[in-house]
Amino acid sequence: MGGAANPVAADLAPRCALCGGSSPLAWTDCRDLEYFVADRFPAHRCGSCGLVFLHPLPTRAELPGYYPPGYQNFDPPRNPISAFLVGRYHAAHLATALRHLPPVGAFFEVGAADGALLDRVRARGHTVGGVELSRDGCERAWAKGLDVFHGTLEELRTDRRYDVVFMSHVIEHVLDPVETMARVRELLKPGGVVYVETPNVGSPDARLFGEHWGLVHHPRHLWFFTRATLRRLLEGAGLVVERERWEPNSCGWGLSVQTALRRRGWDRSRRPRSFYYPLLLVGLLPLNLVDVLAGGTAFMSAVARRPA
Ligand SMILES: [Zn+2]
Repeated sequence: MGGAANPVAADLAPRCALCGGSSPLAWTDCRDLEYFVADRFPAHRCGSCGLVFLHPLPTRAELPGYYPPGYQNFDPPRNPISAFLVGRYHAAHLATALRHLPPVGAFFEVGAADGALLDRVRARGHTVGGVELSRDGCERAWAKGLDVFHGTLEELRTDRRYDVVFMSHVIEHVLDPVETMARVRELLKPGGVVYVETPNVGSPDARLFGEHWGLVHHPRHLWFFTRATLRRLLEGAGLVVERERWEPNSCGWGLSVQTALRRRGWDRSRRPRSFYYPLLLVGLLPLNLVDVLAGGTAFMSAVARRPA
């Protein structure tokens, strides 16, 4: 290892998808301790811009197998603390969507899950559409009468254009984020905006836990951004970044603690979240103050506009 210091290893290192920089091996011990997928991939970190990515990547055919029925995004939490926090989080997303839409607009969600957000936006009188990789998610969205394409954004063929494209915790899951963002730009009307939310690999919990960070979410998270690399991705697609912010959220800390307990064998649960997880979420929330002082929480978002 030590690829950065070794010129031979550095030459063999893969190139960064964002800047072309040499990207030596960074993480070798990623494991899935939520859904217990067996496949494992190493991760590399670009020496120039800091983008972190799995290499080699899973194949398109492998991806659906990594999202089992009952994956977190489709199954609402049953305990009241998590249900409350998730409810607040979804209300904030709806407010964000409505803030950027005209009185009668067109809204598109990449990674529409079960269509809960699309359903709420449609109820306010807007036209909605989306894509979703999971068959289970699509079937739940179709049951609501929603127009959701089963597949990836790259596979969708449409002439429709949208005022808002919404991507919450999706860009880190796609096989090619540069191609995905180019397609997002095409989907947007001139003057339309994309909202992107994704984990921040520059946050204190990410730096502290490294490859054992709770949001490594292996092997579903393929790309790990910082505020700077997310901006680079958006600007590279010809979009103008208008707003960047941190989202208050203790998932990164909470899942990192759960991961640490599972790695040591002290927590032998095979469920995605253990019984104590909601208590971690609440108890660790004040760490967001530390996060902000140290440069940002584990959840970040950006709004970028397609020039008119
Ligand atoms: Zn780079």
